[in-house]
Amino acid sequence: MNEIIIRLNKKYKNRINKGYPLIEKDYITEKHKLKEEGSIIKFIDDNKRFIAKGYYGKQNKGIGWILTLNQNQPINQEFFLKTIARAINYRKELYRDKNTTAFRVFNGEGDGVGGFTIDYYAGYYLINWYSKGIYEFKELIINSLKELEDYKGIYQKKRYKTGGKYIEEDDFVCGERAEDRIIVKENGVNFAVYLNDGAMVGFFIDQREVRKAIRDKYSKGKSVLNTFSYTGAFSVFSALGGAIKTTSVDLANRSRNRTIEQFDINNIDIQEQDIIVEDIFKYFKYALRKELKFDMVILDPPSFAKSKKYTFSASKDYKDLVKQAIQITNKNGIIVASSNCSSFNMDRFLRFIHDAFKESNKKYEILEKFSLPKDFKTIKQYKEGDYLKVVILTLVG
Ligand code: SAH
Repeated sequence: MNEIIIRLNKKYKNRINKGYPLIEKDYITEKHKLKEEGSIIKFIDDNKRFIAKGYYGKQNKGIGWILTLNQNQPINQEFFLKTIARAINYRKELYRDKNTTAFRVFNGEGDGVGGFTIDYYAGYYLINWYSKGIYEFKELIINSLKELEDYKGIYQKKRYKTGGKYIEEDDFVCGERAEDRIIVKENGVNFAVYLNDGAMVGFFIDQREVRKAIRDKYSKGKSVLNTFSYTGAFSVFSALGGAIKTTSVDLANRSRNRTIEQFDINNIDIQEQDIIVEDIFKYFKYALRKELKFDMVILDPPSFAKSKKYTFSASKDYKDLVKQAIQITNKNGIIVASSNCSSFNMDRFLRFIHDAFKESNKKYEILEKFSLPKDFKTIKQYKEGDYLKVVILTLVG
């Protein structure tokens, strides 16, 4: 790896010393020195004293990540081996759990190196690369993984070309190829995962604890509306928890067959479930007109979505989304409000919910709050990494 020595803009020295991991553009005084992504940056202060080492890799946010504050730590095979071994060790319990075979093994900056993640799916590993810079370390990272764990196969997704977008290609890296579809388990529930079929595999593993709570505590005897339902994960867990009926609504055509598939592989009678391919904002209007009401409404929208008629931005429109949900939730019903938008925190999310109820002249009580599960390890110095916010609440009176 070539190494560039860069004098740090002194405004940022304190921040780095406190452990903030992201390297921002403004840190760099001599921008012309940054050429190849994947270069090691050695930051020094005005007196040429060592501050930190990181790597150059452009992402949506930032231009790289700090790797160590220790001058004597080389960035080599051993560094990655130790870092990944620590991460694997932290997930030992999940490795042993026969009922859950899909989880995160390495969570970027939370585990010491920002810019990539590794997920485990029933013996297969999937690596997400978020910059060209980190991809330059591919061999060191994959060699570490191979040395530390048995695996069936390794897949990757490159998400760096333009603004974090996925690069379409064959995602297989090494080992043996998986069947097109593999079945993983989450708390005993089956889920179909496609490792080599575009950007998304079909299952968001960060919602594991929320799905379990929905199944074990909130579904029995309920009618459930699952909005932005994707492959229907929340619907499957609701049905298994004893919901009398689930209604899944998603705009994307592919969601119908994929949701049917998830019900099928869990032996759930599809006749009792509605799967609707439609714009959810249109569906809300329809439900109001028909006076449809549900005992539980699940809201898990993307941070940003544009359909033919509506644009939804979580940071601007979440309050209105909750207001629409309130209108079609039964007396004493439950709303599960979730957001993965990293531009606001739990306090602000709670404020959106509060304001929605206030403007609707309705009262509520919070039953439970969730953030990321343990395997999505985060560090306190990088709050943006702690992106998931889920609030389960009940309407009162
Ligand atoms: N809740 C899902 C994940 C949601 S992913 C789960 O637990 O697995 C976001 C989904 O929102 C995508 O499937 C996308 O097709 C859908 N979506 C985006 N805009 C929409 C809209 N206006 N109406 C309905 N679905 C929408």
